[in-house]
Amino acid sequence: MHIAIVGNGITGVTASRVVRRRHPDWRITVISDEAPTHYARTAWMYVYMGHLTREHTQPYAEHFWTDNRIERVHDRVTHLDARGKTLRLQKGGPLAWDRLLLATGSIPAFYGWPGQDLAGIQGLYHLQDLDRMEREAGSAKRAVVVGGGLIGVEMAEMLRTRGTHVSFLIREGRYMAHAMPKRESRLLEHEIARHHVDLHLRTEPVTFQGKDRVQSVRTSTDVTLMADWVGIATGVRPNIDWLKDAGIDTARGILVDRQMRTSAPDVFAAGDCAEAREPLAGRAAIEPLWYTGRIQGATAGMGLAGSPTPYAPGVFFNSAKFFDIEWQVVGRIAPEPSPEIVDAYTEDETPHGPRLIRLQADTASGALLGVHALGIRLRQSVISDWIARGVSLDDALRDLPLASFDPEFSRAILVPDLSRQSQRIANLG
Ligand SMILES: Cc1cc2nc3c(=O)[nH]c(=O)nc-3n(C[C@H](O)[C@H](O)[C@H](O)COP(=O)(O)OP(=O)(O)OC[C@H]3O[C@@H](n4cnc5c(N)ncnc54)[C@H](O)[C@@H]3O)c2cc1C
Repeated sequence: MHIAIVGNGITGVTASRVVRRRHPDWRITVISDEAPTHYARTAWMYVYMGHLTREHTQPYAEHFWTDNRIERVHDRVTHLDARGKTLRLQKGGPLAWDRLLLATGSIPAFYGWPGQDLAGIQGLYHLQDLDRMEREAGSAKRAVVVGGGLIGVEMAEMLRTRGTHVSFLIREGRYMAHAMPKRESRLLEHEIARHHVDLHLRTEPVTFQGKDRVQSVRTSTDVTLMADWVGIATGVRPNIDWLKDAGIDTARGILVDRQMRTSAPDVFAAGDCAEAREPLAGRAAIEPLWYTGRIQGATAGMGLAGSPTPYAPGVFFNSAKFFDIEWQVVGRIAPEPSPEIVDAYTEDETPHGPRLIRLQADTASGALLGVHALGIRLRQSVISDWIARGVSLDDALRDLPLASFDPEFSRAILVPDLSRQSQRIANLG
C-alpha cells in the first residue's frame, strides 16, 4: 500500500505519523513544493526578530524521517488523476498512489487592488515569503501593513523590532471588533500605539503607487502613506487552484465529509485547504488554524490507514499575542453583549501590564459558553472540560484559580481573586 500526501505542513505530517503508527510496512511519501522538510510557520516571526533560527522552527529532527521511513519529495504537484491514481510532479516523474491526502494549506488572499503586484508588496505565509521579507523589509524605513488579524499584528511587531515605521490599516472601526467587546479593543489599540505603530481604523488601501517598486499607498480616507514595503494580511484562502481539472468537488476549499473524505474514492483532504460539507455546530466550514490542522490530519490519517474516524475537534480554542499582551480564547465569546448571554469579567493592572478575564454563559441555562483572557495565561484543558460539561458560571468563577497556568521557569501569575470583585453583568461597552 502506498500512501501519498501532498503538503508537509502540520496536517500532512500528522497524517503520516498516524499511518506509520498503524502500518509499519506501508510506503509513505510526503511531497511539498515549499521546503524539503516540515517547519512550524507559526514561529517565523521569531526568526525575523532574531530570537530563533530557522532550524529551531523544524519540529522534527532529521533522523525522525529516516527512523519512520517517511519519504520526502521536494517538488510541486501539477496534476492529480484521481481515477488513474497518479500525481504529476513538476520535476520528477509520475507518482502512483493507493490512497492520497491533499493537505495543501492556504495562500494569502489579495483583493485585486490596482498596483498590488508592484515589488515590495507581499503576504507572509510560505518560507519564500519569510526570505523575501528578510531581504526587502529589513532595510525599509516606512512600511504599511494591511489587515489587522493575527498575521497582520505579527508583521507590525516584526517590522518594529528593526525600527521600521509602521502604518497599520484596519477596515473596521475598532481593533478585533469581530472577536471582542469594545473595552478589550481599546486595550489592544492602546498596546499597539504604545509600540509606536500608527493605527488607521476604518481605512482600506485603494491603490498602491510606484514605478516598479511600491512607494506609497492611497487609502480610502484619501490619505497617501509613503511606504517602501507593504505587508498584506487580509486573510488566507485554500491553496487549491491547481486542482481545477482534477474532478474533485470544491467550493472555497476541497469539500470533505466528517471523515475528511473528498468526492473521489481513496482521496482525503484536511487542514487549511479542506471545507466541511456540513460544518459541526458552532464551527466554520474552513478552519485555518494550526491545532485544527493537527486534529484534521490525525482524522485523515485514520482514514488513510483504513480506519475511518469522524472529525471531533472538541471545544474551540485559540491563542495569539498582540505585542506584549497574550490573548487566549476557549469556547465562544460574543463580541457584543446581548440578552442571551451573561457576561462576567475582571481586570486589573500589574507591573507587567493589564490582565483581564471574561467569562460568558447562556442566560437561560446558566452554562458556561466561553472564556477569554488578555495578559494572563489559563489552562485551556481545564476550561474546555468545564464548557464540555456545561458547568455553571458561578462554579466556573469559584474554581477559576484551578485554571491558573504557572509557567515553569518564570514567576507565577495568579488568577485575580474574582470572589472579591463585583461581578459585572452585560452592557459592557
Ligand atoms: C506567519 C503565520 C503565523 C501563524 N500563526 C498561527 C497561530 O499562532 N495559531 C494558529 O492556529 N495558526 C497560525 N497560523 C496558521 C497555521 O500556520 C495554518 O493553519 C497551518 O499551517 C495549516 O497547516 P496545513 O498543514 O493545513 O497547511 P500548510 O502549513 O499551508 O502546508 C501546506 C503545504 O503544502 C504545500 N503545497 C501546496 N500545494 C502544493 C502542490 N501542488 N505541490 C506540492 N506542495 C504543495 C505548501 O507549499 C505547504 O508547504 C499562522 C500562519 C502563518 C503564515
